[in-house]
Amino acid sequence: MQELKQPSKKPLIFYYVVIVLVIMLLNATLFPMMWETPVQEVDYTTFMSMTYDDNIGLVQIDTDEIIFTDKAQENFYKTVPIPSDMDLVNRVYEHGGQLSSIDTGGQTNSLLYILLSWILPFLPFLVIGYFLNKRMKNAMGGGDGMMFGMGGNSGAKVYVPSSTGIRFADVAGEDEAKELLGEIVDFLHDPEKYRSIGAKLPKGALLVGPPGTGKTLLAKAVAGEANVPFFSIAGSEFVEMFVGRGAAKVRDLFKQANEKAPCIVFIDEIDTIGKKRDGQFSGNDEREQTLNQLLTEMDGFDGSKGVVVLAATNRPDSLDPALLRPGRFDRRIPVELPDLQGRIDILKVHAKKIRLAEDVDFEPIAKTAAGASGAELANIVNEAALRAVRAGRQYATQEDLQESVEVVIAGYQKKSRVLSDEEKKIVAYHETGHALVAAMQTHSAPVQKITIIPRTSGALGYTLQVDDGDHFLMSKDELLNKIATYTGGRAAEELVFHSVTTGASNDIEQATKLARSMISRFGMSDEFGFVAFETVSNQYLGGDASLACSPETQALMDKKVTQLVEEQHQKALNILKENEGKLHELAGYLYQHETITGQEFMDILERKALPEQK
Ligand code: ADP
Ligand code: MG
Ligand code: ZN
Repeated sequence: MQELKQPSKKPLIFYYVVIVLVIMLLNATLFPMMWETPVQEVDYTTFMSMTYDDNIGLVQIDTDEIIFTDKAQENFYKTVPIPSDMDLVNRVYEHGGQLSSIDTGGQTNSLLYILLSWILPFLPFLVIGYFLNKRMKNAMGGGDGMMFGMGGNSGAKVYVPSSTGIRFADVAGEDEAKELLGEIVDFLHDPEKYRSIGAKLPKGALLVGPPGTGKTLLAKAVAGEANVPFFSIAGSEFVEMFVGRGAAKVRDLFKQANEKAPCIVFIDEIDTIGKKRDGQFSGNDEREQTLNQLLTEMDGFDGSKGVVVLAATNRPDSLDPALLRPGRFDRRIPVELPDLQGRIDILKVHAKKIRLAEDVDFEPIAKTAAGASGAELANIVNEAALRAVRAGRQYATQEDLQESVEVVIAGYQKKSRVLSDEEKKIVAYHETGHALVAAMQTHSAPVQKITIIPRTSGALGYTLQVDDGDHFLMSKDELLNKIATYTGGRAAEELVFHSVTTGASNDIEQATKLARSMISRFGMSDEFGFVAFETVSNQYLGGDASLACSPETQALMDKKVTQLVEEQHQKALNILKENEGKLHELAGYLYQHETITGQEFMDILERKALPEQK
């Protein structure tokens, strides 16, 4: 606070000087006109007749004007002198006039004059200054938030249960999370049940998971279930321009919460303020102070009072360890991407909001949408409804849903982009190559569907993978097969066209990434063995890997990665060579129909003789 005040003092004096100068200038020019006594202009006859009527007071005679007053010296008059009137002075004197100088400017009561001309102009500045000062003080954390409003400056919105209207029933899947949160809700309803055993309520629970999995939604559902006040604030709202402001907000938030206990405080995207204090960038004092305040507040409040702090983040590994220790956020609730059943349930929850055909089966949709988050599934249902409207139907059908999965995954069908015949052929062979290599390795339907209709995402064709149950472990062989499948597209191009295209760039990226992970993280190479050279941060947000090894190791590793991918590439080439007939047959079908389902694919692959097939 000290540091902030010092520099602002000098400029302040400077401003005062400027203000005084401005007022002086006004006093010299504008104000005299305002203060000047009104002087009435009359003709000479009036002047003479007033003199004869003895109604004359002060008289000032100049060469170009005569200024005079009436007897009571209340009204001021002015007239033009007549040079030939030689008797003027005597006449004025005889009729009781007083020859003197008249100051029409300074007639006013001098005290009032000073008051009005000097103090009044200051007032607006004083008022502005007063408020600015208050603001600054508040901003510097000096104020406890009692300066503006009734102590409610933390920006936390108080959710009353009815206003969110979201219940646990609106959150599909995520049963573990709901169970853990349900306990907190139960505690708030009936604390005695827990207290009698001596169980303490967890002070805080941290919801972690990838974006769009329903963390915010879960917190809102807790608010809807628990009949207690619910304070919701986003982490970013604490980050302010002024140092100390965020800390003041935290303090204020917890003050409010303590008054309203039992209640729930929800801090969304807490990583904004909860980042590790690494000391590297001492620049962001503000965030650090805010975090410190949060830590202090979380220690400070009495858990038995029933203030529960919920927070959500998708970057748990960036959070400060102090925040995660027991006694603060001692419960960590994973909110993961939904599995097949979860996806079906989420689709059902959102499908209630739209009108659907009766015979809709959600399972194939959920299967196609492998890896989709809750937010994406909600989007899929909405897309289906929009598509139905576009087609002028009263309700959405199975087909609408199926198509909107593809829209959400790969973008809209591009009507305008027409592939040249040659390109279309290449894409057909490329996609068939992937699918065929995959099919020959696993001997099962590798895909649900392949299409070669260009999409707005830029994909010229794509393959919908089959979600064969939920995988948690992958063996080395499975990974190798996967790499072979990635190279299958390019291999088919080479085999058939004896040239390569840019179409495989994404495949190459994926294959390389996988091969590198196998060597540097999964310990799946003979040379390096059980050693990790790579660490992954941000697992929920794409996962950036950082390498930590000697340059020699790195060079060797690059060689090994290249080798590994190349081996699989050769394997894919061999598979395609052995099944070249099928490759032509399948690619031909795809080229003709632009779409092939997994079933059709397997039918063609498994039928033996091909009579009259060109
Ligand atoms: P985040 O985890 O990023 O906070 P949100 O909670 O904001 O995600 O979820 C965004 C939207 O996705 C929700 O408003 C909801 O419509 C949908 N959604 C996500 N997960 C679920 C779920 N488990 N059940 C139902 N809807 C969900
Ligand atoms: Mg969120
Ligand atoms: Zn490809």
